[in-house]
This record gives sequence, structure tokens and C-alpha cells, in this order.
Amino acid sequence: MSLSSPGAETLRRQVCDLYAEVDAAVAAAGPVCEASGRCCRFQEAGHVLFLSSLEADVLLAGAPSYAKPVSPDFCPFQQGRLCTAREPRPLGCRIYHCDSAYQQTGNALTETFLRRLKQLAVEHGAEWLYAPLHFFLDNAADRPVLPSGPAAPHTVPLPVLPPGDARPS
Ligand code: SF4
Repeated sequence: MSLSSPGAETLRRQVCDLYAEVDAAVAAAGPVCEASGRCCRFQEAGHVLFLSSLEADVLLAGAPSYAKPVSPDFCPFQQGRLCTAREPRPLGCRIYHCDSAYQQTGNALTETFLRRLKQLAVEHGAEWLYAPLHFFLDNAADRPVLPSGPAAPHTVPLPVLPPGDARPS
């Protein structure tokens, strides 16, 4: 799907609507967040943020500029302990919390919403890749990006996976 594709904006809106559902589900689960920002410092936290090409396109359409090459050790959109790409941030950023009591719920939410994202991609004939954040950011110029638009309402937060635990695309 390209910038000029008639269905691109519809797809972007559908992804944002899905993100709003994710945020509501996470808020209902009520994981504890101490706002340390550690989850965005990947090496320190010991995990990798994986996302799909669909999420990457929405992220790149709304995120601030960044320098390349992108380190796999941390997210370039984190400033201090804050996220500068909060509106378009991907599924993993929305779902992941380090609260140990929330892990099973977080995993279930990831499975549910990742499946729905993939369904959207299939329905629209959109590309589907699943890779670490730095892969998409470093190759951004080589990939079609969905158009930006009004942000969908959102409230809150990664599938972050341990290194080597990539989900199948
Ligand atoms: S995009 Fe995700 S990993 Fe990056 S700063 Fe925002 S919440 Fe953290």
C-alpha cells in the first residue's frame, strides 16, 4: 500500500481505532507503571521491541525526525523518560508494562490485537513484516508510509520480546 493508495487513510484510521481499543483494555487491566522509562531503553531492560510493518507505517507517519543509523539499544523517540511519539506508538509500547502481576494479561492482549492487526493488513492487501524497531527506522526511506492524519483518541502504552523470541510473521 502506498501514499497514493485510496485505502491507505482508511487503514491508518482503522489501526488508530484499534490502538484506542488496546489502550482501553490496558487501562482496564490496570498494570502498575512507575514511569521509569526503562522499557524504552531496550538494552538496559533486556528486551527487543518488535512491531509489524503496519505499525511501523503508522509510527513513521506521526513520529518526529530521528538520526540514522538507529541503535538497537534504545528508542530514538525517548527524550528523558518521555515518549515523543506517544500518539502513533506501536502495539508493544501500549501493552507492555513491567508489572509482574500483569504479564499473563499483557501476553493475551498482545496475541489478540496482533492477530487483529494482521487481519487488517490482509484485508487491505498491505505488506506484513515483523521485525525490531531499528530495522524499520533504518529502512524507512525504502518503504511506503501511510499518510498522517488526525490522531485517534488514546489514553496510554510494548510487545517487547526477549532477544531471539521473534514471533512468526
Ligand atoms: S515509541 Fe515506544 S519505545 Fe519509543 S519512546 Fe515511545 S513508548 Fe518508548
